[in-house]
Amino acid sequence: MTAPALVTDPAIREGFAQDASGLRLVPEAVARPDSADAVVALLREAHAAGTPVTAAGAQTSYVGGSIADRGIVLSLRTMDRVLDLDPAARTMRVQPGALLGDVKRAAAAHGLLFAPDPTSEEESTLGGSIACNSSGARSLKYGATRPHVLGLTVALADGRVLELRRPAMEKNVAGYAPVHDLLDWFVGSEGTLGVVLEAELRLLPLPTAVTGLGLPFPTAASALGFIAAARAARDAGVAGVNPRCLEYLDEQAFAIARDFVGGTWGQDARAYVYTEEESFGDAEPPLDAWLALAEAHDVLADDIQVFEGEANLHQARRMRHAVPATLNERAARFRAQGGRKVSTDWAVPYPRLREALEAANAIAATFGVAPVGTFGHAGNGHPHQHFLAHDPHELETIERAVDATLRHVLSMGGTVAAEHGIGKLKRRWLPLQLSPEQFALMQATKLALDPKGILAPGNVFAP
Ligand SMILES: Cc1cc2nc3c(=O)[nH]c(=O)nc-3n(C[C@H](O)[C@H](O)[C@H](O)COP(=O)(O)OP(=O)(O)OC[C@H]3O[C@@H](n4cnc5c(N)ncnc54)[C@H](O)[C@@H]3O)c2cc1C
Repeated sequence: MTAPALVTDPAIREGFAQDASGLRLVPEAVARPDSADAVVALLREAHAAGTPVTAAGAQTSYVGGSIADRGIVLSLRTMDRVLDLDPAARTMRVQPGALLGDVKRAAAAHGLLFAPDPTSEEESTLGGSIACNSSGARSLKYGATRPHVLGLTVALADGRVLELRRPAMEKNVAGYAPVHDLLDWFVGSEGTLGVVLEAELRLLPLPTAVTGLGLPFPTAASALGFIAAARAARDAGVAGVNPRCLEYLDEQAFAIARDFVGGTWGQDARAYVYTEEESFGDAEPPLDAWLALAEAHDVLADDIQVFEGEANLHQARRMRHAVPATLNERAARFRAQGGRKVSTDWAVPYPRLREALEAANAIAATFGVAPVGTFGHAGNGHPHQHFLAHDPHELETIERAVDATLRHVLSMGGTVAAEHGIGKLKRRWLPLQLSPEQFALMQATKLALDPKGILAPGNVFAP
């Protein structure tokens, strides 16, 4: 086993110094292994020398998870092969550097679905998705990445390799529950417990057709009221209401999306909801229940859009994706002067979303700042408020407003981070949510698996 070359060329190191967080951390070296054996060899050497190693996929992290200014950034992008796909068993084995979009297309070619769908699916890797337990719009129906991972090959900090599979037994009382399925330790561990070398994925039947509905509303309150009613209808099993996503765009986010498609459609809307229904076999999804529900919440009926067929659905998805992409682009202009985008990732129990957003906007106003766009997975009670900080002073004010919002969100039974992870940017808010006992258990796990603390230092825990 030979470790990959460590590249110290400044231009190459610079190429791995940024992700979507707005932070810049230049690593001391970059390694680009092309095999699991090479990763293991590198970890053995790094462990012996006490050199930090931070795994990186496509570096789309919003929280600085894949960048580091100490030690080696270990880029897994070259390990991007689909190793095996078993249509009968509905499973596939994939290397960590494969782009999620490619994984999904490989499954779709066999009429199968790999369900996790972060908005960044065309830019991010499977390994990053597993390490962050990524989720997306369709997590409303399918959950985040975790339930779709059946097995993992993981290299620990010292190069030991674990082959992990979901336990098959139906009853088990041997030991504490958190050790029953070690796979769950690694999903969502943000590169701090091990490096994912290979994953076995669970596949589902691909829907035969999808219908998208774009619903403009006259107020944020009517849109959010509609979302809560639709989610409640789904949970109650109301016929014809089984959305795979329920996405919310406030007035500013909708303006970006509308500009992306052009035209004068939806001018009176102050909020927008996008939902999709799937059908299997020949059945057409009935839209009557949806339209009745939307009308009961004052939808702007003349501007409702129905998206059918691959090309139209793709366009609807691109329109939604244009919102974070445009805001990232706008924020990039302020990086040189110490500004950046601040994107919240909090969530609350879905029936309280409207109340939480109103409180969050009021809190921001007391600090003299305002979001430049709020959108997200409202069906899960999970919006993203986006702020643009032009300079360090404004950044500090925005972060104080976010801090106050997060405290309020926690008092409502919510979370400080619902999908982007903790990384380096949100570390300070973790102790607000976790009790000292929960935090100590996490630290004990980290110490047991990575006693020298070489894996992704600075992610989740202080370095
Ligand atoms: C425009 C945009 C939209 C986004 N939308 C969403 C969204 O809808 N939902 C969502 O959840 N996220 C979203 N994100 C955040 C990000 O894309 C996801 O977290 C994604 O899963 C990260 O994948 P990546 O390959 O870029 O990982 P990276 O950014 O390279 O790494 C992320 C973390 O995973 C670790 N890691 C990477 N590979 C491995 C590995 N093989 N083994 C162990 N650890 C590893 C890294 O150390 C790091 O901590 C978005 C980002 C952007 C820029």
